[in-house]
Amino acid sequence: MAQPKKKTTRSRKGMRQWKEKIATPNLVECPHCHKMILSHRVCPYCGYYDGEQKIVVGAKEKKKG
Ligand SMILES: [Zn+2]
Repeated sequence: MAQPKKKTTRSRKGMRQWKEKIATPNLVECPHCHKMILSHRVCPYCGYYDGEQKIVVGAKEKKKG
């Protein structure tokens, strides 16, 4: 069997693997609408976070003058 010439260090292994980590965002299931969403974010589909509706989905925010 062919062998690697040098040992892969913990540092080098980490440098290789951080790319894989950022490529796969941390997805969790929304407890309200059961779609896959980013964790610790308001759900973009139903606007719920932490058991409450935080934003109204579909309506654009308007600034009050
Ligand atoms: Zn949701």
